Amino acid sequence: MIKPEVIEDIINTARIEEVVGDFVRLTKRGVNHIGLCPFHNEKTPSFTVNAVKGIFKCFGCGVGGDAISFVMKHENYSYVEALRYLARKYNIEIKEEQQTPDQLKELSEREALYAVCAFAKDYFVKTLTQSEEGKSIGLSYFKERGFSLRTIEKFQLGYASEEKDAFTQHALKNGYSIGNLEKSGLSIVKENNYSSDRFRGRVIFPIHNFSGKVIGFGGRILSALKTANAAKYINSPETGIYHKSDVLYGLFFAKMAIKREDRCLLVEGYTDVISLYQTGIENVVASSGTSLTVGQIKLIRKLTDNITIVYDGDSAGIKAALRGISLVLQEGMNVRIVLLPNGEDPDSFARNNLKEDCLTYIEEHEESFIRFKANLLRKEIGNDPIKKAQLLNEIAADISLIKDLMMRSMFIQECSVLLDVSEETLTQVVNKTRVKHFYDERAKEKGLPIDQEEKQTFVETLSPDEKTMLPLPTQDREIDTIEQHILRLLINRGEDILYMRSDNYEQTKEIREMRLDQFVFDDLCNDEIVFENELYQKLFLAYADTVEQHPENAIAVLRRHEDESIRNLCIDLIDIPIQESPLWESERIKNYIRSIHNDKSKLMEDAIRSLQMLKLNKIRRLRNQKLEELKQELSEEDELILLHELRELNAWIKEMESVLGTTYREK
Ligand SMILES: [Zn+2]
Repeated sequence: MIKPEVIEDIINTARIEEVVGDFVRLTKRGVNHIGLCPFHNEKTPSFTVNAVKGIFKCFGCGVGGDAISFVMKHENYSYVEALRYLARKYNIEIKEEQQTPDQLKELSEREALYAVCAFAKDYFVKTLTQSEEGKSIGLSYFKERGFSLRTIEKFQLGYASEEKDAFTQHALKNGYSIGNLEKSGLSIVKENNYSSDRFRGRVIFPIHNFSGKVIGFGGRILSALKTANAAKYINSPETGIYHKSDVLYGLFFAKMAIKREDRCLLVEGYTDVISLYQTGIENVVASSGTSLTVGQIKLIRKLTDNITIVYDGDSAGIKAALRGISLVLQEGMNVRIVLLPNGEDPDSFARNNLKEDCLTYIEEHEESFIRFKANLLRKEIGNDPIKKAQLLNEIAADISLIKDLMMRSMFIQECSVLLDVSEETLTQVVNKTRVKHFYDERAKEKGLPIDQEEKQTFVETLSPDEKTMLPLPTQDREIDTIEQHILRLLINRGEDILYMRSDNYEQTKEIREMRLDQFVFDDLCNDEIVFENELYQKLFLAYADTVEQHPENAIAVLRRHEDESIRNLCIDLIDIPIQESPLWESERIKNYIRSIHNDKSKLMEDAIRSLQMLKLNKIRRLRNQKLEELKQELSEEDELILLHELRELNAWIKEMESVLGTTYREK
């Protein structure tokens, strides 16, 4: 348990821009910091951090929160794990007792898995450096490879003995449950409680997550077991904390260097990473045999846009490299490829050359991916015209993924020569593909207020097929938006004072002052309107409660509400002052944003209008309910009353709609 005063201390010390900055490249823009959202794929930054309010928000996917919830979301931590992480970062001491076996049992599953992996890592390190078998087999292997003791220590390399279940027994003795050992993938449990170690007679490469926790292991076979049908390399299976497709080996050690060099070298294996690192080339990671996944690219993308794939000359490596590339291009990254001299892999290359020589070679031999691919495939297809057309389309598709106009035209020029087609033809094919991408993207994007007229023209340009892809708002979604909007007004402008004419203004000329939240409460209570979204209603009530007790700092109190869902929604709805962006080409959007942030009378109009929309919705519901009732068997009298009520409701709806000046779409 962490004491409340320590929690308070952590919350007050943590600076959101520093916490987020460890994972996202942030640039200062006005009062905010912006960067690429780590929670969704995007090419232009809409992820915004506001240091004053201590919150982050993504205008692309809508995710938002404070420093703690950022760490929770980003690292998949529990609340307590996130607090511990922040405490470590800011050197805040959390006095916790040593964990007893009983306490170990009670840890959450994820925490338990982290604990097992940390324990196993220490065990394998000890086995490597202290046992006879470890020293004579494991350590001597690493030394043969030229790894220094410092390197071995840095990467926390280890050794697993040949014994059937040495690790499992040791872990059981230390209070770890067989269930968690099995879940961690380190122990294999068969029937009759027969258990064995997954890693035996292997040197061990611990795999770390972005923040440096061990989450899995890779093992290379060394011992006599080699004669059996054992694979040369094995990895931890997928577990609660280890997902192969979201992990890059070496990234924890490389991240600072990647940021610094603004470039990431990508190699295939554990030893490639370690050898290059030892040579002094530290910005290197490995995808560990799989071709690149979106998850892995996103990890790199947090640090740099430039990726250089370093492969040995054999064709298996090249093919693997080609497979992942479209993804990388799509993410807006610059991809280059280096083929090493024949017979060399990154590991041997790094061992046989000095750092400067390696870097010079890379610099002189790397070429853009597209040029590389065009060249490679051109050799394969020879003079076959159909295959050539296919190749043309494929290359055009790759080029169309490049965002930068200059780069695109450069590639078009280059490839038109390589593929022997006119620049014009290639440009046409590329543009056709781009138009398609554009509509796909637009249909997916949300967040910025869309100009209705613009949207209409946009919709008209779509083909029938494309139209069906558009997420058209339903009435329910609109209600949700309005309800959310009212909460947003309360949370961000609730304390604002509105000036209103009193009821007998004509005679007295009296102006009343009223807080915006009071105005909204009164209005909603008078009409007995309840939010349809239950969570919104919960937050609304909590807000009303809090304002009553702490009228001056309601939001600060609400942000620490005991109910997590209320806490999160509240933080989520806090507006970050938006900095004008060059991306908002339309003056109308700019004016819209300026107006909602500055104009008081607009603010009130906005509130009234939203409340009216809610009322309108309520009346609609009532009417529909009455219509349903009409379908039942009724006495003539009842039917007349119902019809009368319906007529009244319809008149109200008409009136409301004319006030709102909009035709409010029906289901
Ligand atoms: Zn996002």
